[in-house]
Amino acid sequence: MEQRIRPDLATKVVSVRKLLAGSLEHHGRLTYASSLGAEAIVLTDLILTHLPQIDVFTLDTGRLPEETHDLLEQLQTRYQQRIRVIYPEAGPVERLVAFQGVNGFRGSVPARLGCCQVRKLQPFRKAIAGFSAWITGVRRAQSAERSRMDSVEWDGQHGLYKISPLLDWSEADVWTYIRSRGLPYNSLHDQGYPSIGCAPCTRAILPGEDLRAGRWWWERSGPRECGLHERTTTRRTAAVLG
Ligand code: SF4
Repeated sequence: MEQRIRPDLATKVVSVRKLLAGSLEHHGRLTYASSLGAEAIVLTDLILTHLPQIDVFTLDTGRLPEETHDLLEQLQTRYQQRIRVIYPEAGPVERLVAFQGVNGFRGSVPARLGCCQVRKLQPFRKAIAGFSAWITGVRRAQSAERSRMDSVEWDGQHGLYKISPLLDWSEADVWTYIRSRGLPYNSLHDQGYPSIGCAPCTRAILPGEDLRAGRWWWERSGPRECGLHERTTTRRTAAVLG
């Protein structure tokens, strides 16, 4: 049963809907790249409940945990198959594995980024083709890199606008929304995984660790990102999107 949420969170929800509705009016064609993480549950629900004109997709890299597939099935059922699932091309994956081995991404940061390139970035580019803007569920509190983001930016890396409606949401906001609506979520979140990516590249975090410390945890340096959020962006403040 749906529960009431705090007035301040209700205000944030209204702001997200306003930003998305304004963006839709301004850009015409919008797509949401769902990570299937907790933030994605919030945005998927808001979009498919209130703004179904917005396209929603997720990337299946071929290395996702079974728990993520279980969640995807629940979401597909709840929202009637509205989530497009995009896969990497077989040829590039086969060449990658032939070159670096099946788990070659552990060899170095460049090898890992090479795997993310083939399994995430190339399918992502295919998924956003033809859209004027893409939506992401990142929050400023997740990392230092993300703390510098703006809710509307020009994504110079991919050549379209990038809209981040949840930047100012806290982790507590996200979970309050999920619980108030009784939404499904990835069961790994209950096992210490605040951020979930591919199975071999994600572990649970320890108390006090950074929220993204469980991603590519073996790397001593590196961006803790797959490359989708590289900041070759230029800030564009568009009043129409406020
Ligand atoms: S997260 Fe790991 S398995 Fe997934 S695409 Fe990146 S390097 Fe490859």
